[in-house]
Amino acid sequence: MNEPVIDLHSDDYFMREALRQAARAYEAGEVPVGAVIAREGRIIARAFNQVERLKDATAHAEMLALTQAEETIGDWRLTGCTLYVTKEPCPMCAGAMVHTRLARVVFGASDPKGGAAGGAMNLLQFPTLNHHCQITGGVREKECCALLKNFFAEQRATENQEKKIRNSSENTENVSEKS
Ligand code: ZN
Repeated sequence: MNEPVIDLHSDDYFMREALRQAARAYEAGEVPVGAVIAREGRIIARAFNQVERLKDATAHAEMLALTQAEETIGDWRLTGCTLYVTKEPCPMCAGAMVHTRLARVVFGASDPKGGAAGGAMNLLQFPTLNHHCQITGGVREKECCALLKNFFAEQRATENQEKKIRNSSENTENVSEKS
């Protein structure tokens, strides 16, 4: 019997937890990004993107998770912590990760246009900054990408449908004006 051993400390395991958070964002109509922060193999913070709900452009999953972890530890220094996030962090979040002295950042989907962990730029390892974070990318990448792709495809479909309804109601208005 060679049962696969579940390694509770593996990147794969923690990314699955981050994906669970991302799914919660999806259900809430938010861009599906989720994050967890682990220290010594334990999750000390979990969060998902809440920009729409909080009407706050800084309410990215990573920012919320960082604040939560700081509260848990009782310090702004998150030394020895690893943050797992389903999408490569943006410049704002990467900046916050450097400020909190995170040891490591692990992400799923890379973002070549806006990512600040090596995608578009690398703020996590910027030469002149006083702290550098280790980076691991591409963990459970397919699932992380699929979630984002599905979300945006669904959003486009809804938008198109709304447009159609708007157009058809405009047409009927025109008809009734003529008659
Ligand atoms: Zn961000």
